Amino acid sequence: MSILVIAEIDSHGIKAATRSAIAAAGQFGEEVHLLLAGSDLAGIAAKAKSINGLSKILVADAAEYAHGVAENLTPLLVKLAPSYSTVVAAATSFGKNLLPRAAALLDAAMVSEVTKIVSARTFVRPIYAGNLNATVEAPAGLALITIRPTVFEAAAETGGDAAIENIAATGDAGKTTFVSRELAVSDRPELATAKVVISGGRSLGSKEAFHGTLEPLAAQLGAAIGATRAAVDSGMAPNDWQVGQTGTVIAPDLYIAFGVSGAAQHVGGIKDAKVIVAVNTDPDAPIFQVADYGLVADLFNVVPELTAALQH
Ligand code: FAD
Repeated sequence: MSILVIAEIDSHGIKAATRSAIAAAGQFGEEVHLLLAGSDLAGIAAKAKSINGLSKILVADAAEYAHGVAENLTPLLVKLAPSYSTVVAAATSFGKNLLPRAAALLDAAMVSEVTKIVSARTFVRPIYAGNLNATVEAPAGLALITIRPTVFEAAAETGGDAAIENIAATGDAGKTTFVSRELAVSDRPELATAKVVISGGRSLGSKEAFHGTLEPLAAQLGAAIGATRAAVDSGMAPNDWQVGQTGTVIAPDLYIAFGVSGAAQHVGGIKDAKVIVAVNTDPDAPIFQVADYGLVADLFNVVPELTAALQH
């Protein structure tokens, strides 16, 4: 049997997280197929053909699959999944919305946020905000898994030559109507995949201070900006900037935390960063336990100084 990977599409085409799912699927040692469901897919399918590691692309091109509405995609997945041993998607909002629905309807095993594939039915996944890794075994039969995209290196965009097969659509489920999408337009890199991320906590004090302090530095570093949940909840930063267990899990080359205490739920989202730098006025702040470099200092002095130094 083969593995089916579910593609996530945005305005730029197939997301990098899907290529991580393809790489993870490749570890099963079986054929890997990609389900490409959306509308006006000709260009995207032509490009996807050359992604390394795929043997077939199933193209479901229909208006009801535009915008990735899970209610419409679920019947399609329920129809296709029983022909596969495993269904894989990235553990993004899209994957986490879709796969459990199909798993429940199919009465199949669902394993979320997989960070290691030990064998075809044995997986490692973090629990307790990333403080422990659980090794879990799915029962024989169909399994649906979401993988953490930051731990599987994305499959190359070139080198493959997959066959393309057009498949029938399953129709509009009639439960959800797509109304609109508000896209934040930013010159900065995407938080989930940025090489450098700087983030701020509650200590920034206000929305104006948060943006006014961190944005000039982010511009200098070409960095994405992240935030703690406390900063998001108090309205200083938008929701999609939240880093951590219930936000985005990141693995940049460099992560700089300004005024972030280092709660377990935050640290769970930054553990895979290669270098962690923390600036905090409290020498006992837990963030220093995970930081490679720590500076006990006031962020309102450090950030402008650093920004100015980088300008020269
Ligand atoms: P605080 O804990 O208040 O820390 C502020 C820090 O700033 C302190 O260490 C202080 O010493 C320092 N400071 C103050 N002034 C300055 C200054 N001028 N210069 C430098 N340092 C200064 N949190 C997340 O971030 N992400 C998550 O995904 C997440 N998920 C959660 C899920 C659950 C189920 C729960 C219960 C909580 C979750 N949290 C999450 C919340 C988490 O527990 C913490 O409450 C939160 O991370 C704290 O945010 P903070 O560091 O901004 O605030």
